[in-house]
Amino acid sequence: MAAIELRKLTKSFGAYTALAGLDLSIGDGEFLVLLGPSGCGKSTTMRIVAGLEEPTSGEIRIGGRRVNDMPARDRDLAMVFQNYALYPHMTVGENIAYPLKIRKVARPEREALVRAAAERVDMGHLLTRRPAELSGGQRQRVALARAIVRRPQVFLMDEPLSNLDAKLRTVMRGELKNLQRDLGVTTIYVTHDQVEAMTLADRIVVLNKATIQQIGTPAEIYARPANTFVAGFIGSPPMNLLPGRLLDGWFSSEGGRFPLAHAAGDVLLGVRPEHVRIAPEGDGHFSGTVFSSELLGDCTILTVKAGDALIAAKLAPEAGLERGAPVTLNFEPGRMHLFDAATGLRRG
Ligand code: ATP
Repeated sequence: MAAIELRKLTKSFGAYTALAGLDLSIGDGEFLVLLGPSGCGKSTTMRIVAGLEEPTSGEIRIGGRRVNDMPARDRDLAMVFQNYALYPHMTVGENIAYPLKIRKVARPEREALVRAAAERVDMGHLLTRRPAELSGGQRQRVALARAIVRRPQVFLMDEPLSNLDAKLRTVMRGELKNLQRDLGVTTIYVTHDQVEAMTLADRIVVLNKATIQQIGTPAEIYARPANTFVAGFIGSPPMNLLPGRLLDGWFSSEGGRFPLAHAAGDVLLGVRPEHVRIAPEGDGHFSGTVFSSELLGDCTILTVKAGDALIAAKLAPEAGLERGAPVTLNFEPGRMHLFDAATGLRRG
């Protein structure tokens, strides 16, 4: 069993609060992604679980045992970092063998385990190379092989793909997911990349300013963001958030109004760009002029200036319009999100 429990975890660096009371349960075999902008406390959380950093207060349990006072090397976890952290003077084989060597695994068994781990990541034919003679993707594979070679209870991965180019990152992302699924090892993965989080995670924890904003499956977080931070952080282009007022069954804002039955108040209306449509003339809720029209190949992102607001619409590639052209927009009914203007929290 390697479930992980974090209870009321805090971390301060002097007067600065890096973690403000984190409560989190990670299931045995779960792939949990910590997602958030730079400085939100992702790496600090990971380093505390690893035993590289002490919490200011709170409890860490791995496999049911409290590990606060357990040194990092006894926690039975393997870490994979962005910079691979390979030993440059050792061969691929020696790098992969290292965790076994320091645990005094006998040579014949070690060799068999190294070969199996290297083959699992398609590096079996390069065991005698040194890191300097490998591509970035190959180095990352060696780092993965070193992590899996002794079957730890937990993987901790801190932006492991961010040094790879976009194409390789996509390939390695798929390989990483398959590897974790096959091995069934509980994994905590840190990233600020929402696509990585959406594709890899069983559950995502969205962090901002030292606190958890939302925990859920990728589908839940996309469909029902808990607040405006999550709404704006997940989705590309991000969700439109239009300030306005609900009154007597109408939502009104600069640029337009439409019927929306909800309790009165000041709100932000959230609409994802894929739920915005160009309306036939005279039939739209919002009118404005085209601010920009960007063809991305498979779609066009049209940004419309309506009053003070900019509204992004994700449209078919051929739907592009000239800058300054008048346009009216509709929102797909039932696809709108309401957030309280004062607190930013989801309403209903
Ligand atoms: P990034 O994606 O940039 O790595 P992160 O979410 O992983 O960001 P952390 O590394 O957890 O962020 O850092 C959280 C905050 O704590 C940051 O503002 C950082 O500057 C601060 N911090 C981290 N380590 C220390 C330290 N040893 N001393 C002082 N402040 C620190």
